[in-house]
Amino acid sequence: MARIVVALGGNAIIRPKQRGTYDEQYHNIRNTCVQIASMIERGYEVVLTHGNGPQVGNILIQNEEAAALVPPMPLDVCGAQSQGLLGYLIQQALACEFRSRGIQRSVVALVTQVLVSLDDPAFSNPTKPIGPFFNQERARRLVVEKGYVMKEDAGRGWRRVVPSPDPIGIIEKDIINRLLEAGVTVIAAGGGGIPVIDEGAHLRGVEAVIDKDLAGERLAEDVGASLFLMLTDVQKVYVNWGKPSQTALDCITVDEARRLQNEGHFKPGSMGPKVEAACRFVENTGGKAVIAALEDALEALDGNAGTHITPRAKNGT
Ligand code: ADP
Ligand code: MG
Repeated sequence: MARIVVALGGNAIIRPKQRGTYDEQYHNIRNTCVQIASMIERGYEVVLTHGNGPQVGNILIQNEEAAALVPPMPLDVCGAQSQGLLGYLIQQALACEFRSRGIQRSVVALVTQVLVSLDDPAFSNPTKPIGPFFNQERARRLVVEKGYVMKEDAGRGWRRVVPSPDPIGIIEKDIINRLLEAGVTVIAAGGGGIPVIDEGAHLRGVEAVIDKDLAGERLAEDVGASLFLMLTDVQKVYVNWGKPSQTALDCITVDEARRLQNEGHFKPGSMGPKVEAACRFVENTGGKAVIAALEDALEALDGNAGTHITPRAKNGT
């Protein structure tokens, strides 16, 4: 059975213009799980990961607004909360879909820690905006009182930015593999995982956000996946994105992807990390990576949709 890692983008959980009510999120996740169950019925062994941007953002707003009543939690704890929230919904929705199809399979969402290093250059250059917008006055106080790094976001106010370090390894890797061996469908490294550093005697959570596609790539390597599928809200990766000359890519080698990446075709924070994750997966494993629209997931697995990034052509051709 081909083992694949599927990374679910934000639109698998909250659709454009939705506020993210419980009903909206559950409904979207149910629809997504229909596709995941179909993959499993077709014989793929699926390992799932997912984004958490809006969910952790909301938890941060709740923390901020209720700070006088309830002690706010640090970002790593908020990340864990969001993994629990989304893991629960996906675990329940997928199990429900299995039940309705008569598939005998257990599903488990794992609170997952991902190792990062304080030597990562990201720690001296925080770039990832998170949580609520603040006015300048409040932003200034947060810098003084909490040591936050705050950046102005194009007219919308001030926002905290945190480092986005590279994932080095998945702490729960062994248990994930044991669960897979036991035939369990695993949801892991949600929201890029909870970033932790190794202090020898113990692990310590840090205030950072790991890109979920890069963490998904680590997961894909760690479980020995043959394919890494990133599902998002565009049908393909484009060159000259947003310009009249934009062109969709169907199938490119990893060398071609690296060349286009160096030419600046993929925006940082969105398509950039997806293409980076795709390249790493192909380079490090010789497997294939696919970036496709959520609706096209099954066609993408058949090779009929999405952008496919493949190993370099043999014999130097
Ligand atoms: P997800 O939540 O699925 O990770 P992102 O918003 O992070 O989604 O990334 C997908 C977005 O990347 C698309 O909606 C598109 O706006 C943007 N994007 C940037 N550059 C490109 C490109 N070259 N080709 C396609 N999409 C691009
Ligand atoms: Mg993204």
